[in-house]
Amino acid sequence: MSKLLIVGTVAFDAIETPFGKTDKILGGAATFIGLAASQFNLDAAIVSVVGGDFPDEYLELLANKDIDISGIEVVKEGKTFFWSGLYHNDMNSRDTLATELNVLADFNPVVPKGYQDSDVVMLGNLHPLVQSSVLSQMTKKPKLVILDTMNFWMDNALDELHEVIKKVDVITINDEEARQLTNEYSLVVAARKIHQMGPKYVVIKKGEHGALLFHEDNVFFAPALPLEEVFDPTGAGDTFAGGFAGFLSKAQDISFESMKNAVIYGSTLASFCVEKFGTERMKNLHENDIQKRLQEFRNLTQFDIELSS
Ligand code: AMP
Repeated sequence: MSKLLIVGTVAFDAIETPFGKTDKILGGAATFIGLAASQFNLDAAIVSVVGGDFPDEYLELLANKDIDISGIEVVKEGKTFFWSGLYHNDMNSRDTLATELNVLADFNPVVPKGYQDSDVVMLGNLHPLVQSSVLSQMTKKPKLVILDTMNFWMDNALDELHEVIKKVDVITINDEEARQLTNEYSLVVAARKIHQMGPKYVVIKKGEHGALLFHEDNVFFAPALPLEEVFDPTGAGDTFAGGFAGFLSKAQDISFESMKNAVIYGSTLASFCVEKFGTERMKNLHENDIQKRLQEFRNLTQFDIELSS
């Protein structure tokens, strides 16, 4: 079975959308990635850190999804990473109200011995130095390294971010962040510039407007499923990344063709994530729900026009 190593925040989130507001609930990039990837029945592990205030039941939730949590350090006297966000009426844009690094500020990740030879490494959103440290602990070159990041790290650790970007095969990034990273408005030009920074594959997520996959001169686009109900987009990007990484780990095929399917899986899983607050929908997702939605995706995007030559 192929092994997937995930690094990212395991966090408390407080979210406000036009539909409601939550107190501190379970969140974090690695949490959403892990929940999405767990749909593929892989041998997956999370490397992260939480404080003594983090409820055991949250860790158990991940463990019950067969995710190895031995790489999640618990700093008893520390506080868990906290993020708070406010969504605007279009639900596609949000303001970050608070980012409290807490235990993440002095985190030295330790990759569990059994995962130092993982086939796929998903570097989820957190400090680029932590992402780099995880990579340097791998005893075998992974078949694929995927990186996700966010404007916060561009604002606060840009040099370190550039260093880690050089070392990865795939980057997943949202449209505004791609523009910020490259100072380019056109996403095609932005993707080309990001290629030059290192990654052979660039995935640009456009929220409810789908996702683009770039590789050399090839481009693939997947729309997002038009949904009746969108309650909370938090974690959709991470869920996408988890579905993308999980699919590729399972398929053991990292060709461009396989990545197209990975984009579809990522988009499909993200479409569930937004239906409820936080991790609520992802916690109770079943294989037949996914299959049904993949069919809807196929219906949405398939057409049959004969081209005259
Ligand atoms: P997404 O909506 O996919 O961009 O991800 C939202 C998740 O990212 C939330 O659950 C937050 O806990 C987490 N998050 C927010 N800011 C950061 C940050 N600067 N570094 C790492 N994770 C973050």
